[in-house]
Amino acid sequence: MASDRLNSMWTRAVSAGRKGQPILDNVPFEFDTQASGILNWIKDRGANFVTSCTEEQQNAIAALLTKKMRDGHTVDELARMIRPCIGLTAGQAAANAKYYDNIVSSLRKEHPRMKAETIRQRARDAAQKYAERQHRERAFLIAQTESAFAYNRGADESIRQAQEQGYLGMMKKRWSTSGDDAVCTICSALEGTEIDMDSEFSFGGRVLFPGHRMLPPAHPRCACAVEYIEEEPPIKFIESPIMTGDKWIDNFIEDYDNSLIYTNGDESMSTRLLISHDEVKYEKDENMGVPFLYNSDRDVISYNPYAENANDYDMRFALTHENAHRVDCLSLHSWENENFRQAMDSTALLIMSNPEALEKLLQNDDYANDFAFNDLMSSLTRGKANDMLLVGHSEEYLESDYRRSLEVFADITCIDMGESAVRKELDGILKELYEAYKEVVAWKSLES
Ligand SMILES: [Zn+2]
Ligand SMILES: [Zn+2]
Repeated sequence: MASDRLNSMWTRAVSAGRKGQPILDNVPFEFDTQASGILNWIKDRGANFVTSCTEEQQNAIAALLTKKMRDGHTVDELARMIRPCIGLTAGQAAANAKYYDNIVSSLRKEHPRMKAETIRQRARDAAQKYAERQHRERAFLIAQTESAFAYNRGADESIRQAQEQGYLGMMKKRWSTSGDDAVCTICSALEGTEIDMDSEFSFGGRVLFPGHRMLPPAHPRCACAVEYIEEEPPIKFIESPIMTGDKWIDNFIEDYDNSLIYTNGDESMSTRLLISHDEVKYEKDENMGVPFLYNSDRDVISYNPYAENANDYDMRFALTHENAHRVDCLSLHSWENENFRQAMDSTALLIMSNPEALEKLLQNDDYANDFAFNDLMSSLTRGKANDMLLVGHSEEYLESDYRRSLEVFADITCIDMGESAVRKELDGILKELYEAYKEVVAWKSLES
């Protein structure tokens, strides 16, 4: 079917429409030519096209069957005239019939003795050749007009997609003629007209499909285009953690946010965490070797769903841990607190002087499977107990007092904010450390 062949032409023209937009030259977005807007337009246009061809066909035949034509020609003659005109417009068919009649009358005048049948035969041959030329013209015109429809719709769709993805803000469209002498009066009247993206230009003629007047072409052979102008830059999304748009992390963020409201942990710290989490920025980094990392230089929490074991993580632990790093780095500076440092050293000594006690604790599944507890034991002992533990940092990493303090602080926060059985150790082996921790949390006012 004609519309099937036109489909690929429409699709190519749609892609060309995106490439023709200077405003998108430096925008790194991918144009989705399979977006439903464009696919629907091509589908509807195909259906409309067939209908309008059928209509034109009927009009063309009707033009050949007017009273004047019926009176002047035999049925056989009319049938033979109609055949080459199938596929032409009414105007073309009428022109073809007129051409036939002219040939007949001039042959009669110039060759009075020629047989009537011979005259009709010659006129038919000439009209047939003329019809072939008319067919080619019509095919060319259809291809040109349909490409222009699709090109302009592709351009419009790409602008809309770029807007949706936040690359472009509020746009308007301006009618732009090709600027050469061939511009007709319809289009020169439209030149420079500026309207909103969803408004229609005012030009006459039959509406061929919904939204026909939103874009060029205004008529067959119209070579006009639309220039897109950005009126206002895009609204930047508020960098709220709820808004990353990545479902993987968003689910965990929501769960973590809720957990902060109902925690039994230190009130001052949970407030700090809540405030911090409202302004934290999560950033996906698929090249990162670990699933989560707080980058204090750039103040972002990087995450990588594809990192090893990323999906085995206790997400509430991970998010609390990184958020605690952020609070510590930005305002508390646990590593500068003398009491906290001493408490870390004495707790580490307590653990290392009695490794059997730790081993015994780890026989309890609640302890063995607790990320915060394991990471805390690893950090306090500077990696010396890692063999026994589920997770931990390396000895080299923990050589630094600053890093050890960061990790211990974050892990105590996780235990305090959580509901795990380990929490009772805050009043047990972690008592001294927890007292020092609360001092760190309280030692700087909330405003600092
Ligand atoms: Zn035009
Ligand atoms: Zn950490």
